Amino acid sequence: MSAPPFEGRCPLPKGPVFFVLPFFLNSARFLSRVGGKKPFPNFSSLLLKLGLKKAEIKEDNGIESGETFRETVVTILFFIFGLAVGSFLNVCIYRLPRGESIVWPPSRCPHCDRPIRPLDNIPLLSYLMLRGRCRDCQAPIPLHYPAVEALTGILFALLYRKFGLSVELGMGVVLVCLLLVITFIDLHFKLILNKLTVIGTVSGLFLALLPGRPAWLDAVVGIVAGGLLMLFIAYFGEALFKKESMGMGDVKMGAMIGAFLGVKGVLMALFLGFLLAGIFSAGGILMRKLSRKSYLPFGPFIAAGALISFLWGPALVNWYLEVWVLS
Ligand SMILES: [Zn+2]
Repeated sequence: MSAPPFEGRCPLPKGPVFFVLPFFLNSARFLSRVGGKKPFPNFSSLLLKLGLKKAEIKEDNGIESGETFRETVVTILFFIFGLAVGSFLNVCIYRLPRGESIVWPPSRCPHCDRPIRPLDNIPLLSYLMLRGRCRDCQAPIPLHYPAVEALTGILFALLYRKFGLSVELGMGVVLVCLLLVITFIDLHFKLILNKLTVIGTVSGLFLALLPGRPAWLDAVVGIVAGGLLMLFIAYFGEALFKKESMGMGDVKMGAMIGAFLGVKGVLMALFLGFLLAGIFSAGGILMRKLSRKSYLPFGPFIAAGALISFLWGPALVNWYLEVWVLS
């Protein structure tokens, strides 16, 4: 027998924050005026506006309250689906930069060239069962294979938790696949493939046409903003550091992210990307693992920035306003 659904779940009371607090702030404003001191700034109307904004954002969160058995099951299914897709992404990461077909022939061990048995091709599990080695030649299987599978699974599950079954979810799934393939190819080959960024930009534009999405125009402006900003940084980075810091691949990747995230989203994504790259290289230099001259691919950082912005962008903006602007 199943337990009765948990009813009467009380959402966080918004009232005190958005209505009582402005009242007190306004009282302070009133009193400060009576006292003849410098008038207290009018935060209350700003806070009210912010309150209305927050409410809008809360509504489009897929699963926020009342976890059900069904949602748990669908989350697990999305994780498994992600593992399977991740396995295909590994094929793309290996074959696309080598100019090979991604549908034919079936997977082979790159070391001994023997075909991989279906039972040895189960995402994640096969890697564990084979203890990371080819069954035929015992050559080690690089760790990025299970890592890509696990990451895809986790990100798909996260996207479902965040957006529920929606257009955003579909968009997120496409974006995650593109970003993972671009990231791992960039890590191995230090290049960002044109076919990925161009197909990505076109599919982002196409998905922006679907109902329930912000305007198509936002995607177009996002493409221009993302591309131009990266072009600007690439140009000035080269002049400043006297070495090529970014290629045209990064510029096209910026445009692609703009197609998916729109203009605000892409600005946040690029900002976060550079912040992460800065923290990473500063840490690397401090720990003497990197030098000022060592090459750092930007693709992975921009990809991470794009994912954070896509998943938590509005929440981050609210947090920033609350902690840094309103306090
Ligand atoms: Zn082998």
